[in-house]
Amino acid sequence: MRRAVNDTIIAIDGPAGAGKSTLAKTLAARLGYLYIDTGAMYRALALKALRQRLPLDGAETLRRLARRTRVRLDRTARGTLRVRLDGRDVTRAIRRPAVTRAASVISQDAGVRAWMVRAQRQLGRRGRVVIEGRDTTTVVFPRARHRFYLDASLDARARRRMQDLRRAGVRASLRAVMEDVRRRDRRDRTRQASPLRRAPGAVRIETTRATRRQTLARLLRAIES
Ligand code: C5P
Repeated sequence: MRRAVNDTIIAIDGPAGAGKSTLAKTLAARLGYLYIDTGAMYRALALKALRQRLPLDGAETLRRLARRTRVRLDRTARGTLRVRLDGRDVTRAIRRPAVTRAASVISQDAGVRAWMVRAQRQLGRRGRVVIEGRDTTTVVFPRARHRFYLDASLDARARRRMQDLRRAGVRASLRAVMEDVRRRDRRDRTRQASPLRRAPGAVRIETTRATRRQTLARLLRAIES
């Protein structure tokens, strides 16, 4: 028997550095599902706005920009994600700190979010997806069968974020990274348009002291049970 679409959607939300991307990527590979990194989509649009020197708080300009933008997420043969903005590979460029900050600002706009949500629902319409971000359990797929909220202490999240930056060749102090994560959290949690929160019914998973393997095992157990 074929399973209903919502049964094959796994949605994961949580603040920056909670470990969503690594987990979602591994889970998708394990299950043979499509991985949808919604943060990468906001980042790609933010990169385009920066390149065109557009005001990041200009609602109408950003909405028009979104309508003229195509973001694609492709899986490479090595299982990593390639992000294309209007046909160009921007996988590395969207991880730069300036883009991180810009994505956090433009994602506050309701019109930008509506455009993103439409695109994300379209990508997941057939099911068999692992989707992660800040509103995937509350807004994008609130009826997904499997919904998780990943969380960790600010300190642990900042340390993980610093490791990611190091890997990308960016040097930053723990204090600066922590302040950046704190600021992004505040924006995500207090914005008017679909703020970050744990959806009723979403399973909370605490990752502060857990290894990636342990978190993956917990998720798989929850999905199978
Ligand atoms: O997850 P990532 O750090 O790549 O996301 C970049 C920014 O995009 C976040 O700081 C957040 O403000 C925004 N975002 C969002 N909703 C999502 C995914 C990301 O607002 N579903």
